Amino acid sequence: MDHVLFADAALTPEGTLGPYWLRLVDERIVEAGHGRPPRGPDEHVTDAVVAPGFVDVHAHGGGAAAFTDGAASGERALAAHRRRGTTTMLASLVSAPVSVLLEQAEELRPLVDSGELAGVHLEGPWLSQEHRGAHETDMLSAPTPDAVSTLLGHPARDLIRYVTLAPERDGAGEAIARMRAAGFTLGVGHTGASCDQTREAIAAGATAATHLFNGMKGLHHRDPGPALALLEDPTAFLELISDGVHLDAEMVRFVWDYATRNGGPQRPVLVSDAMPGAAAPDGRYRLGTVDVEVRDSVARRVTPDGTLGAIAGSTLTLSAAVRESILRSSIDPALALMAATSNPAEMIGIDDAGRLLPGGRADLVLLDSAWNVSRVMHRGGWIDDARA
Ligand SMILES: [Zn+2]
Repeated sequence: MDHVLFADAALTPEGTLGPYWLRLVDERIVEAGHGRPPRGPDEHVTDAVVAPGFVDVHAHGGGAAAFTDGAASGERALAAHRRRGTTTMLASLVSAPVSVLLEQAEELRPLVDSGELAGVHLEGPWLSQEHRGAHETDMLSAPTPDAVSTLLGHPARDLIRYVTLAPERDGAGEAIARMRAAGFTLGVGHTGASCDQTREAIAAGATAATHLFNGMKGLHHRDPGPALALLEDPTAFLELISDGVHLDAEMVRFVWDYATRNGGPQRPVLVSDAMPGAAAPDGRYRLGTVDVEVRDSVARRVTPDGTLGAIAGSTLTLSAAVRESILRSSIDPALALMAATSNPAEMIGIDDAGRLLPGGRADLVLLDSAWNVSRVMHRGGWIDDARA
């Protein structure tokens, strides 16, 4: 394939919407530029906004499949998200012993080798008991030097890109520094840390908030907690679950406004935190060893007595998160698209996705005037069953 696509409105690498062209050869963007293309185009998009394929750095599954269940299941989850515009994903694994997480990661290796999966996110096991959300209490532990050595010495470590932990856990500072030196992105999450402890974690190398406000001690006037430290640091990326359930639309608007003025528009990162019930019907699903029930698109943990407990992941996709942020939180569309593309790519340090630049993957999303995904290009080919 050698194809010149020209869009009247595309998300440019600078984060604006304007006329932009791309030359796509096979699976890559090989040339790109502002305004009209020097030749062609082979295809002129006039009725949709063209954006890079979405990048989701926090998702546990989708399409009734979980990343904890191996490569075949992972492929189903990837396909469900891909149809809705997400073409780059990390597989998030829930708290389990480190040895088990490494086995689960290793089972996903074929998807990483084939380029379908960008890597693995370990959400735990070094999390707070009090703020564990749907993570299992028996699975949580402290990041001891031995546990970190087990992780860093294992052959599956090259699959891990992102680790979430609670700064108040014994050994967290040293663990953050060692994992940062190993090239991981470190996120502060599922935590009851103080503001000072969180600042120390950032100084040690943490660069992200894992679903800001969800699974963490909230802002309090006598105890500002982790959220204040994360908001105030101008370099920290802020994951937001913008579904109107995990965060009120006004809170999304406030965080976005504050972070953009205090650091820049690259800080907000839309994540789905999707569980298997995303892009799938209501019903009963499993998240690791946890039973989760989805009713009216809200996922909750099933407690031992059969009642529904904590929110357990979401049924969101990034396409819905973008739409929700634009329509309900009044986020500027270009900024909302950045938060689903270049910002997450920067957060986890990948440079061939998230921006329409030469060298990048030929992964595209087209959005209609209501900000619904209308077409998806994956590795240079249009997906025929794309849907909002
Ligand atoms: Zn979580």
